[in-house]
Amino acid sequence: MKLTWFPVNAINPEGETLKIEDSSVWPEIWADNLVEFDMAGQIGSDFSGELFVLPQEDGCLVRGKLMGTMHLACSRCTEGVDIVINQVFDTFEPYPGGHFKRLTDLAPGKTHDKGRRRNEDRQDRKLEEAHQRDGLDIDPDVDEEVIREMADVRGGMEINLAALLWQELVLALPIKVLCKPDCRGFCPQCGKNLNLEACSCEGEILDPRLAVLRNLKINS
Ligand SMILES: [Zn+2]
Ligand SMILES: [Zn+2]
Repeated sequence: MKLTWFPVNAINPEGETLKIEDSSVWPEIWADNLVEFDMAGQIGSDFSGELFVLPQEDGCLVRGKLMGTMHLACSRCTEGVDIVINQVFDTFEPYPGGHFKRLTDLAPGKTHDKGRRRNEDRQDRKLEEAHQRDGLDIDPDVDEEVIREMADVRGGMEINLAALLWQELVLALPIKVLCKPDCRGFCPQCGKNLNLEACSCEGEILDPRLAVLRNLKINS
């Protein structure tokens, strides 16, 4: 089982387990994300992951965990901060188009459902046509970063576990990385790190959250 796009039908139907114990794998599988989020080189050498993937009729069940240290920078003073990740997840990733399948799979024989079912079938066909025409995914539950239809195998699905793991990492990170909750950041006027020393600047009281930005402006 490969971490990036991998055919679901090549996964053992009983489920497969994958352990990522060599942390040198991450910069490779997350290369684009790490550059985009400016986080390259910040994955700790203890970083590891574990996955269990179980293909189902209409999607994939994925359980796993991400553990280890991320070396990030405080968003106020840029001091290094170690964030310990311990993210356990259990998710179901539906296949695109699974929506249609479920509706047409409705059990027959319920007379009062027949009219509705015909309407739904009609509606479905329209939607499916539109879907094929536009190449759009109309099921809001489907995450196209993680599951997609294979280009060369009709009805074949492939899964991107690296993308799923990245999403779990982002969920595990704090919204704002701080070295300590009351980090004072840089003085917006003289640029001193106010955690280390006081400065004699006076005057306007500025939003400390803007300090880092202001400081960058001065330097640029
Ligand atoms: Zn700080
Ligand atoms: Zn100052």
